[in-house]
Amino acid sequence: MSFFTFANIMTVSEIHDIKKYCESLTDFKRFRTREVSIGKLKMGADNPIRIQSMTTTDTMDTQATVEQSIRMIEAGCELVRITAPSKREAENLKNIKNEFRARGYDTPICADIHFTPNAAEIAAKLVEKVRVNPGNYADSKKFKTIEYNDESYQEELERIRKRFTPLVRLCKEHGTAMRIGTNHGSLSDRILSRYGDTPKGMVESAMEFLRICEDEGFHNIVLSMKASNTQVMVQAYRLLVQQMKAEGMNYPLHLGVTEAGEGEDGRIKSAVGIGTLLEDGLGDTIRVSLTEEPEAECPVAEQLANKVEGRKSESGIPPIDHYPIDPFAYQRRTTYSVLNIGDHNVPVVLADLSGKQNISQAGLFPFGYRYSVPLDKWNIADLACDYIFVGDKQVDFEIPGTLGVVQDYATWERSKARHYPIVSVKEFELANDLHDKLNFLSVNLVDLNESLISKLKDSSNIVLLIEANSEHRMAELRRAFIELMNHDCNVPVVIKGSYHKLEEEKLQLYASADIGGLLIDGLGDGIMISAAESGSDAMVNALSFGILQATRTRISKTEYISCPSCGRTLFDLQETTARIRERTSHLKGVKIGIMGCIVNGPGEMADADYGYVGTGVGKISLYKEKEVVKRAIPTEEAVDALIDLIKEHGDWVEPVQE
Ligand code: SF4
Repeated sequence: MSFFTFANIMTVSEIHDIKKYCESLTDFKRFRTREVSIGKLKMGADNPIRIQSMTTTDTMDTQATVEQSIRMIEAGCELVRITAPSKREAENLKNIKNEFRARGYDTPICADIHFTPNAAEIAAKLVEKVRVNPGNYADSKKFKTIEYNDESYQEELERIRKRFTPLVRLCKEHGTAMRIGTNHGSLSDRILSRYGDTPKGMVESAMEFLRICEDEGFHNIVLSMKASNTQVMVQAYRLLVQQMKAEGMNYPLHLGVTEAGEGEDGRIKSAVGIGTLLEDGLGDTIRVSLTEEPEAECPVAEQLANKVEGRKSESGIPPIDHYPIDPFAYQRRTTYSVLNIGDHNVPVVLADLSGKQNISQAGLFPFGYRYSVPLDKWNIADLACDYIFVGDKQVDFEIPGTLGVVQDYATWERSKARHYPIVSVKEFELANDLHDKLNFLSVNLVDLNESLISKLKDSSNIVLLIEANSEHRMAELRRAFIELMNHDCNVPVVIKGSYHKLEEEKLQLYASADIGGLLIDGLGDGIMISAAESGSDAMVNALSFGILQATRTRISKTEYISCPSCGRTLFDLQETTARIRERTSHLKGVKIGIMGCIVNGPGEMADADYGYVGTGVGKISLYKEKEVVKRAIPTEEAVDALIDLIKEHGDWVEPVQE
């Protein structure tokens, strides 16, 4: 690969400054963490990215928990997490571990603790790892604002130190590892009052506990910063690394997106959050949280890890002379608008139909356009693409009013309305008959030289279609955006990803990680996924909209924030999620939280408009945002009650009858 030379290469100290959250923005380099031992499992440093998952059985049901754990291990799980809500369950971890060993499995176990320090102290003596949530280990969350000055805040930290130190000492004594696992949704009132509902608050929440561990000389620690909002999650991990570096620490990172949901949405959301960080070399272990059987999570985590494992470090991407992106706060790149692309327009979706034999009305159905012959009318779905790229094909019917057609320059039908050309750099330089409103210019990073960029700066009818095909795809595409930004070139950009002959799940995960990783930093005014022999047309179209939804850059459907369930779950989460989805999937933009228990539920779904939370056996409470509005509804009436609540608040629309 040959690149033009970049002017104004930064000084070493400036480059160091922009790389505070990762080792390199152009080459692939893992953040070098310290090695942690979880029983026989080594994590961090040069060890492979470890795969883990969590049981959903009742922890008191030893047989069921062991059997589910074994299914998880057979599916690739290297660390089994089991909830221990009280002392009883913590004590039963001994039986689970013994049964586990008796069956010939030595996979380490992690006890998941919320609120109950004495359960943690029991578990620390029995299993290889304990996870604590700093938001609720010694604090509570009642959505109260508390006024602190420096002195009173320090007193609180001393109180936490007293509460937490016994566990740290036990872990140290028994060689037990610990995860300090912050969740965006369960930040304590103390942290929220001091730092707000921010990535900074998440980081401080963990750092307070981490500093106590360091003071005790205990270092067998892993950290996590989970959120269901992928932007918040990515920013929090980056800030955590920056903060650790500032304090001379390098603990391994456990990556996860909480309440990612199920099926395609859950996979896309997880890949956007986890994949973005992995691409920058961050992450030592992965847990994908799906509202599915836990063994379904491991292959997904494995595919994400495999995407970067063994990747060569040198990318050939030129170094950066100035980093114009704030990695800790979302800001969309400034662009001008070309028709409906760029500026404040939501990112567009281009569908690639160039490989089709011909373009027909029926062929648009998977892309959200259904033509009714008797009515001679188009029906346009929520997931209707904005443009179709047809290559050298022609469209011999009247296209819907919301659709544009993109054609190769050589076969572009100039006289047809809403037909636009796509040109190569050479065609762009020679052509004198471009469309006066919109033209797509297909480029790679190597094409972005000074001369082309200055022409782009003078244009108002060009949209770039940028593609990269190396294994460093995300970094290469990001480098192209950086080049444009550093030259104050505000041309809109559509990101193109080509994924041919991949199996469906791999396509979902790879495209979400590569393209999502850019959108999360505000880069990109549209996406086009080319996926010949990789998935059905409808699946690829849904994937494009799914990535935009998961990065919160274009909302086109109902969002479900559903927990993966665990031993605390009070109802059948998978079945309930399916029932709620069936009734509400047409409520575009509405966010519904579905949480298995009250312990974590209200906090974890902090982002949701409505919440459905298990609060007792057979009992559900409903939330409007953070407030509980209906309590202890019998499970069989709860979905209807949720619909009534949505209606009361004016968010209901009747579904369109097909
Ligand atoms: S919200 Fe769900 S996964 Fe989280 S503790 Fe409760 S039941 Fe378990």
